[in-house]
Amino acid sequence: MIEQQFVTYAQEIVFGAGSFDRTGELVSQFGWQRLMLCTSPSLRQEGRIDALQQVLGPQLVGTFEMVQAHVQDFQLAEALAIADAHQADAIVGLGGGSSIGMAKAISRALGERRGDQSLTPVIAIPSTYAGSEMTPVYGVTHTSDGLSRKITIRDPRTVPRLVIYDPLLTLDLPSQVTSSSGINALAHCVEALYSSTRNSLATAAARAGIEHIVRALPRCAKNGADVGARDEMQVGAHLAAAALATTSMGLHHGLCHVLGGSAAVPHGIANSIILPHAMRFNLDATGSQLALVARSMGLSVDGRDDHAAAEAAVAGVYHFIGQLGLPQRLRDAGVVEEDLPQLASMALQSRAVQDNPKPVTDAAQTEAVLRAAW
Ligand code: NAD
Repeated sequence: MIEQQFVTYAQEIVFGAGSFDRTGELVSQFGWQRLMLCTSPSLRQEGRIDALQQVLGPQLVGTFEMVQAHVQDFQLAEALAIADAHQADAIVGLGGGSSIGMAKAISRALGERRGDQSLTPVIAIPSTYAGSEMTPVYGVTHTSDGLSRKITIRDPRTVPRLVIYDPLLTLDLPSQVTSSSGINALAHCVEALYSSTRNSLATAAARAGIEHIVRALPRCAKNGADVGARDEMQVGAHLAAAALATTSMGLHHGLCHVLGGSAAVPHGIANSIILPHAMRFNLDATGSQLALVARSMGLSVDGRDDHAAAEAAVAGVYHFIGQLGLPQRLRDAGVVEEDLPQLASMALQSRAVQDNPKPVTDAAQTEAVLRAAW
């Protein structure tokens, strides 16, 4: 038997078209009375904030609706003051990974302020495929002396207690956020499969996640209003996030976090550019796991050895991302070539890079991957 050790979390997870409308009833089961909402401006434009107010009525006591990408530290104090003033007893993150990350950050900060070990529970209502709703992790971007740096915090108490997946919430998701956050989900599957802490549950989730994503994402990109495709894509993103929640990520995620926190590249776009390059870097050390990626994608690799199948996975992922019309070079995402050495040395310090299944010990290695992607 292979050795494995991992942690799973107690969460209530609800799927289904229209489940958003059941938020009040679901929340009542837990006895929460004073909810604070964290979300971003596009959700206001789409009427989702008004809809949640309708559904929750007086139970919704406060709202912070200005969440910016990558959870900025200067916003946290403002949001925290709202939660505190209204004595929130649960924090709702509605939207993408940034809104859910902000909800987790408030929960932990409130706990620290109140000296409360059990933390204010988080409710996640995701409307992208980024996957934060399933994990005990969030990032906060700190800026000082003109330099931004995203710090990742892992705290099992911030895992959302209630998760509501409603595909109807994703129908208006812009095409590029749909595709790029979908590639973020694919990246969770790939890095969970070759993770140095891979386990049987994550492997099963990641393989099924890839199958759903490869089938559903192109359909969502082609027609955002295809409820069936949106539904399947949420299942794929959920499985990907479940795999992420029990494994450590690697080089790919470490690079994406530095590109987001210090070069302001949207997370999904960073994922879309870096993923094939990180896979290529890891190919000689993780051939049998990358071969699973190829098989789960449905690539025709029968009769090929693991190395050849892994090569097919790298090419297949690159092609899949290209077909979605996403950027594939860092220069097209605003990254300046002169910044690559500094980004590479920051990445080397990231926990995810240190956890990569193939050892990364020198900034020359991270810089080579960034240059290949530039
Ligand atoms: P995001 O949360 O920054 O959202 C991207 C954009 O999509 C925003 O402008 C948002 O307003 C908009 N948006 C969201 N839902 C919408 C909808 N239904 N209609 C229209 N617009 C909508 O991006 P993301 O890719 O969802 O999340 C990325 C962030 O989450 C990064 O900071 C990343 O590090 C973090 N993340 C965390 C985890 C984790 O486990 N903690 C996992 C994945 C990503």
